[in-house]
Amino acid sequence: MAEFDVDLFVIGGGSGGVRAARIAAGYGARVTIAEEYRMGGTCVIRGCVPKKLFVIGSHFRHELEDAAGFGWTVPPASFDWPTLIANKDKEIARLEAAYTANVEKSGAQIVKSRAVIEDKHTIRLLENDRKITARYILIATGGAPNHGASIPGIEHVISSNEAFHLARLPKRIVIQGGGYIALEFAGIFAGFGSDVTVIYRGDNILRGFDEDVRVHVRAEMEKQGITILTGCTVSKVDRHGDEFTTHLSNGSSIASEQVMFAIGRHPAVANLGLENAGVAINPANGGIAVDHFSRSSVDSIYAIGDVTHRFNLTPVAIREGHAFADTVFGKREVKVDHANIPTAVFSQPEVGTVGLTETEARAQFSHVDIYKTSFRPIKATMSGRDTRVLMKLVVDGSTDRVLGCHIVGDAAAEITQAVAIAVKMKATKADFDATIALHPTAAEELVTMRTPTARHVRQAAE
Ligand SMILES: Cc1cc2nc3c(=O)[nH]c(=O)nc-3n(C[C@H](O)[C@H](O)[C@H](O)COP(=O)(O)OP(=O)(O)OC[C@H]3O[C@@H](n4cnc5c(N)ncnc54)[C@H](O)[C@@H]3O)c2cc1C
Repeated sequence: MAEFDVDLFVIGGGSGGVRAARIAAGYGARVTIAEEYRMGGTCVIRGCVPKKLFVIGSHFRHELEDAAGFGWTVPPASFDWPTLIANKDKEIARLEAAYTANVEKSGAQIVKSRAVIEDKHTIRLLENDRKITARYILIATGGAPNHGASIPGIEHVISSNEAFHLARLPKRIVIQGGGYIALEFAGIFAGFGSDVTVIYRGDNILRGFDEDVRVHVRAEMEKQGITILTGCTVSKVDRHGDEFTTHLSNGSSIASEQVMFAIGRHPAVANLGLENAGVAINPANGGIAVDHFSRSSVDSIYAIGDVTHRFNLTPVAIREGHAFADTVFGKREVKVDHANIPTAVFSQPEVGTVGLTETEARAQFSHVDIYKTSFRPIKATMSGRDTRVLMKLVVDGSTDRVLGCHIVGDAAAEITQAVAIAVKMKATKADFDATIALHPTAAEELVTMRTPTARHVRQAAE
């Protein structure tokens, strides 16, 4: 009789857990994966995918407006929120079924239950109180919205989870947060016709992004009529029937039909039984502490994805899940390289970024050249839209290596995915310059910026 019921028990059927389960099963491991909600996890069910569908849907407003300059007469358009929600739900259900089918095809077994850890080799399924022993346990439980310190009326506040299922499009919405989820939903609601106010405690949105990106995105969002209030926080929310009054720390208040917080997410480590096995938490970020191979402080237990709170992105969770399976079941040790991960903010306009910001580069390198351009995209010349694209390259002046690329404008994410290959390959500015432009595109600016717009040379200490 086998020593354990299964070789691998995966907790969480999201991006990382599903990849790990499938690859491990492919190596011949006996795998069980538990999911307490819906297969596919945050990205598929209430993250990247439905968010992007909403972004695409809300962007039609711009297309309809821009069409007039090209000769189109578009009858007054109307928008039906319930149709959007129903079609989105259909697509998400299709994806959930595809995820389920792919896991089953790989030979892994799915159990629909919350799973908790009993000891370093034992899992308990809360659904039927069954215990399962496993040679290895993989924690891939993701994260959840964090509303921050409790304020009066916090029970009236929704998160991105609920925003995907609202019965009605709010006429007015207050969104607290300055990160990517807050700004993406600001663009979504504004595009569909809501009056949007963004509240952020810091001095500008998109903390951690390149300063020029932060300034540019804010200006562009404000041009579209989104109100952005910085340097204040929500202190209280009052409900009056279907309406809310949001009180701010600066003494003002705003009436709206919804109040949403997107001020961060915390790793899903609570009530998981971590203490039963002695799994350590990383005190720096509250996620499960892991080494380069995603191994926790307990040798039979690994953790990947958002629950480790390293880089909370789907492709990272997938890569970590795959590397785990290769390392533990595929007989080849694979470490995930977390450098130069491209990311996007699907705000309107969109942001694409890879590599170092100007501030980061100047802290790490003694000679940094900046190539920056801001221009009116060709479409705006005829549509009349008041918008500008930003493109910026951060270059190590000593080696000529491109350290970072930052883009704000249409298709920024698509462009950045391709540029990320060059940045990852350590391309130099000369390599960019040697590449013939593809005309007429916005991206051609990346290979035609000849002269630095700024040069930062740190003098060696005397
Ligand atoms: C609104 C929003 C938009 C996003 N947009 C993007 C984007 O554009 N691009 C991008 O790369 N990333 C995006 N993300 C982040 C992305 O969704 C996550 O990084 C990714 O889903 C993490 O994968 P994971 O496998 O670590 O966890 P998850 O996908 O969160 O999966 C964890 C799963 O574990 C289950 N679970 C938890 N505890 C238990 C338990 N005890 N027993 C059984 N099951 C359990 C949960 O129900 C969940 O299904 C977005 C996130 C949000 C919230």
